[in-house]
Amino acid sequence: MISRLCPTFFADSAYDIDYAKLYGRGFRALIFDIDNTLVPHGADATPQAEDLLRNLRTMGFKVLLLSDNSRARVRQFNHSIHAPYIYDAHKPSPRAYKKAVQMMGVKPAETIVVGDQLFTDILGANRARLASVFVIYIGYGQPGWKGWRRLAENIVLAFIRRKRRNLNIPS
Ligand SMILES: [Mg+2]
Repeated sequence: MISRLCPTFFADSAYDIDYAKLYGRGFRALIFDIDNTLVPHGADATPQAEDLLRNLRTMGFKVLLLSDNSRARVRQFNHSIHAPYIYDAHKPSPRAYKKAVQMMGVKPAETIVVGDQLFTDILGANRARLASVFVIYIGYGQPGWKGWRRLAENIVLAFIRRKRRNLNIPS
């Protein structure tokens, strides 16, 4: 069970990932969670998020937004970004992940998921047999964190870190 929650890589945030290194390792498509991964929960796209996604596409990545949130929420974030998206994804069901890979026209082995929740983003990636990067959620330590789930996540993370010390992408 624990191994199904284990991400391929850890990073401090979606903005601290060495994407050139991922490209060098053969990744060509990125599936992003939105809330607490790219922006605080419910927020509009920020210039930082817009820049990141534009730069990634310039680098040659395909980018897709995968959210459990509503269509209206995803469209609100996406209106300046214009990425393909899937809303109401029902993570950790692998179905939407597989559809995302299909929509981008890439191979599963070329695809990597970026998200802030082990029990949805990362578990879903593993079920769909996709690589993943687990990022510390935006707003860490602030009100609004999801009590028991975050607590359980922290326990799992401590376990994973003890088992596998060098999951960070070397820079
Ligand atoms: Mg999230």
